[in-house]
Formats: sequence, C-alpha cells, structure tokens
Amino acid sequence: MLKDKAAVITGSTSGIGLAIARAFAKEGAHLMINGLGDAAEIEKTRAGIEAEFGVKVLYSGANLMNGPEVTKLIADAAEAFGAVDVLVNNAGIQHVDPIDVFPDDKWEAIIRLNLVASFYAIKAALPGMKHKGWGRIINTASAHAFVASPFKSAYVSAKHGIAGLTKTVALEVAQQNITCNSICPGYVWTPLVEAQIPDTMKARNLTKEQVIHDVLLAAQPTKQFVTVDQVAALAVFLCSDAASQITGANLPMDGGWTAE
Ligand code: NAD
Repeated sequence: MLKDKAAVITGSTSGIGLAIARAFAKEGAHLMINGLGDAAEIEKTRAGIEAEFGVKVLYSGANLMNGPEVTKLIADAAEAFGAVDVLVNNAGIQHVDPIDVFPDDKWEAIIRLNLVASFYAIKAALPGMKHKGWGRIINTASAHAFVASPFKSAYVSAKHGIAGLTKTVALEVAQQNITCNSICPGYVWTPLVEAQIPDTMKARNLTKEQVIHDVLLAAQPTKQFVTVDQVAALAVFLCSDAASQITGANLPMDGGWTAE
C-alpha cells in the first residue's frame, strides 16, 4: 500500500517508532529511521528491516532537541528519496516530578523533543507534500493529550500541545490531500515501560503482577497493555485511501482510559 512512498519516522530505533517503521516497510515504503542508541545495534536494525522487506532504509542520528537538526533530517530524507510522503513524529521522553521541584532543563527538554521538534519537522516536510499533492502526518501523542496525571506536567503539556498542533495543521492543508492526525495510546508494552517495573516493585514493595495490574494498568479499564503492533497498524491505516477523510483527529488507543 505504501509502495514507492518514503517515510520519516522519528524515534524509530526502539518501541513504538520501530514497530511503525517495520509495518511501513512491510507495506513497501522506503524509510528514514532516526533515534539515539548503540550504533552497532541501530545498524543491525536498519540492515535487518532492509533485508526482511526489500526496501531502502536509511538512518539519521539527528538529535531532535536541536531545531536545525530536525530540519536537516527532513531535507536529507527528501534528497535521498525525492520526497517525504509520510512523516511520523514519534520521538519522546518522560520525566516525573512534582512541579515545584521539576528540573528546569528536563521540563524544557520534554517540550522541545515531544512538541517543538514536531513543529520543525512538519514545517520542513509540508512544502514537498504540497508539491506532490499527497501527504500523511502522524503524531504519536498519548492519552495524556486528553487527561492529566500528577507529576507529569511537562509531558501532559507537550501532549496536549501536540493535539492542538495536529488539529491546526490538518485545517491548514485540508484541501491539499494531506492529512494530519495523532495516535493517543494509553500504556503500551515497550522496553521503556518494562524497565520501570523492578524499581516500582522495590519502591512500593509490590510483586511484578501488582505493579502491572494496580499501578501501570490502574487507569486502563481493559487491564491490558496496548501493543506496539496495534499502534503501528493504526498508523498504516491512517496512510490508506480509506482514511483520507480522517484528519485533525486525535485518536485514542487506550483500553478505555479516556472514556472514564
Ligand atoms: P522509546 O523510549 O522506546 O522510544 C523513544 C525513541 O525516541 C527512541 O528511538 C529514542 O532513541 C528516541 N529519542 C529519544 N531522544 C531523542 C532525541 N533527542 N533525538 C532523537 N530521537 C530521540 O519510547 P516509546 O514508548 O516507544 O515512545 C514513543 C512515543 O510514544 C513517545 O512520543 C511517547 O511519549 C509515546 N507514548 C508512549 C507510551 C508508552 O506507554 N510506551 C504511551 C503513550 C505515548
């Protein structure tokens, strides 16, 4: 379905971004993957996707905290592939602290990566999409685009911001065959989430099952994690013709969290 299309997926060396990259490759898209991490591991991932799906996969180590690096990431992909047809703004980080002691640098970094980088990427990608008369922009937001949780002021602010950016961009390009939507997952089972379990077990003196059920999934009525493959399948659908009238939507995938 994405044959001969080129996609840039930020933060795609791990977790949700990597699953989206693999799902797009399966549909025939050429990819620019991006993210931080061990160079050898990343190269293994890049070459692995290329070999498994027979598409071209490039990697950029752009640090998206830095606006000009975001702009260059899009320019490099456009130069390599001739266009950026699909942009997924997915890179994100988290920090949890009460607001009165929230470190200034962490607050600004979360806003910069989770929100400001998306602005720069969309700004850089839109002219090419307009020129081709087709484009798909997908932002990975969160249930925290709709609701708040204590101690996550920066993350909740950034994700509410992404929801507004998504709607605004959608309106600006509504008549140019370009859609802009966000996917708003609840808790997704990723290495990031799994890694929090041992510390939480220790801090609260709980078993692994209690941490999963009573802490992580406390807000998720289905009591199940979203999977990265489910998020990726929605991203693929949003690129389809069937989804061409879905734009400006912030789509929950949260096991019912935000229905409460
Ligand atoms: P992850 O940590 O597995 O992946 C994050 C990616 O971002 C990695 O590839 C990492 O290298 C990259 N990254 C981090 N800092 C970067 C920087 N400065 N420049 C470029 N890349 C950078 O996390 P994930 O759980 O897959 O999260 C992906 C997105 O999904 C985030 O926006 C997150 O807020 C959102 N999300 C996650 C969950 C969840 O439960 N895991 C729920 C809702 C939303």
